[in-house]
Amino acid sequence: PYTGPRIEEILRKRSEFLSPSMFYFYKKPLNIVDGKMQYLYDEDGRRYLDAFGGIATVCCGHCHPDVIEAIINQTKRLQHSTVVYLNHAIADFAEALASKLPGDLKVVFFTNSGTEANELALMMARLYTGCHDVVSVRNAYHGNAAGTMGATAQSNWKFNIVQTGMHHALNPDQYRGAFGSDGEKYAKDVQEIIEFGTSGHVAAFISEAIQGVGGILELAPGYLPAAYKSIRKAGGLCIADEVQSGFARTGSHFWGFEAHGVVPDIVTMAKGIGNGLPIGAVVTTPEIAKVLTRRSYFNTFGGNPVCTAGGLAVLKVLEKERLQENALVVGSYLKGRLENLQEKHDIIGDVRGRGLMLGVELVTDRRSKAPAKAEILRVMDQMKEMGVLVGKGGFYGNVFRITPPLCFTKDDADFLVDSMDLAISKL
Ligand code: PMP
Repeated sequence: PYTGPRIEEILRKRSEFLSPSMFYFYKKPLNIVDGKMQYLYDEDGRRYLDAFGGIATVCCGHCHPDVIEAIINQTKRLQHSTVVYLNHAIADFAEALASKLPGDLKVVFFTNSGTEANELALMMARLYTGCHDVVSVRNAYHGNAAGTMGATAQSNWKFNIVQTGMHHALNPDQYRGAFGSDGEKYAKDVQEIIEFGTSGHVAAFISEAIQGVGGILELAPGYLPAAYKSIRKAGGLCIADEVQSGFARTGSHFWGFEAHGVVPDIVTMAKGIGNGLPIGAVVTTPEIAKVLTRRSYFNTFGGNPVCTAGGLAVLKVLEKERLQENALVVGSYLKGRLENLQEKHDIIGDVRGRGLMLGVELVTDRRSKAPAKAEILRVMDQMKEMGVLVGKGGFYGNVFRITPPLCFTKDDADFLVDSMDLAISKL
């Protein structure tokens, strides 16, 4: 049993020694001390079904034995920076990762986070095109450094610092958007931004396939092909941010963009790539990758042996345990059950997403779609008491984010939906 510091002591230390900007879920926060596959355990040994997976960070399951073994073996041998010497781990993982991407996307740069990956992608696009302007989609989240904060398009994640050359296009939001599911109509805004907001030439377009932080919003079909066409006509590169939707999560495909029939020029990833390890990556074509040889470029811990050995183990587990297929089968089953729940409870305005990246939006009135901000907190707290952890997000904070480890089972899906059903009934 766990004998370490408990909630009160941790809260005291946090308030004295950690950033006052740190936040947590639940009225009474959880002190998580152990994890095993799709379960998390608190300080009293109480087990919770984890349907959030550390924000889609854990893909093969908490503390998956194969990944742990790879990390431990590499740690015992060597952990350092791979900037000035050779080591096989970074090369092996780059080769395996490149094999998962289509077309000419074959050159990998490793980083330590999603923010770093997107910063690098934006810089490469600017260098390659000689342009500065970038178009991102409203309601997107791409990171919190100067460049990526500019691309992020939700006021609650934006500080008042200089964020230049960023344009935010109409969100192809199938639930609240003006054009419903007609992606091409929303994409006209990308063309108009180029025509009226830039010189006619742009560096890049960056977008998630399913907005994660934004509340699990899958871009309307037809949007990405049309937006990519406008951007490429203006000389820009297309960047797919796969930080949440990548790594088999959507079930139907390994990468989120694949469901939209496009091939990006640059793909960025993080979170699931390391099953909890701090690692991110940018994958692009040999031609675009060359821009970084104009100067010296390195990242001290990007691609370090331990994280890349862990990443390679993650890819092997995804294949060995057929987790993409599981995400499709269990995800489709779970979505069906959530849709049934929507018929029962008026407060559920929308059920959406793909595979094991699902959203449930709560509204107080289906016609006005007024966000049920207070109600979602109560349901979330109740579900925690029943032993189920779900995430929360969306611009109004009224969307359940369901992004469990991909080893989630149908029984887990039933338990989640039953507990949500009961919690909503108690409102
Ligand atoms: N892109 C997306 C789609 C994300 O969801 C996030 C993190 N929520 C990021 C980028 C930034 O990743 P990180 O927090 O690792 O910097």
